[in-house]
Amino acid sequence: MICPFCRHDDSRVVDSRPVEDGTQIRRRRECPECGQRFSTQEVALLNIIKRSGATEPFSREKVLVGVRKACQGRPVDEDDLVLLAQRVEETLRATGQAEIEAQEVGMAILAPLRDLDEVAYLRYASVYRNFASLEDFEGEIALLRALPSSNSSASQSNSPARNAVSNTNMQKIKSNN
Ligand SMILES: [Zn+2]
Repeated sequence: MICPFCRHDDSRVVDSRPVEDGTQIRRRRECPECGQRFSTQEVALLNIIKRSGATEPFSREKVLVGVRKACQGRPVDEDDLVLLAQRVEETLRATGQAEIEAQEVGMAILAPLRDLDEVAYLRYASVYRNFASLEDFEGEIALLRALPSSNSSASQSNSPARNAVSNTNMQKIKSNN
């Protein structure tokens, strides 16, 4: 690796450690010529195969844009969305595949979005899975209700208040029927 300070064409690795759950490696390097230190980060290439067949590098930003739209007006903050995009990337990388269908990215977004906000989830699912009728929504809502408080145990322990609220809402919906 070329030294970014003096352009010397070699450098020595002085430290190397996994980051981001081991999906990336950060290396500290030292230039033998000028003695400056710098860091590099190594991450496996993850390509997304689009419907057209073209591939492009995975982008957390694209995930963010999609879920941000679905979350408009919902009590979800930007930090939640950033975490969600990170979870999506971790899920995809955990498959060990270097190339992933765009559709699988959509699938990987659904579960964490459902944990985050059920309304945003329904919005996203309606577009992504081409809901065409009220029955599609009803089917999905029935599924949501059938899930044992779809909010994962992790988010349950993090925010009992939020879950209490959503459980109350669910009871309201049920009693309206
Ligand atoms: Zn140098």
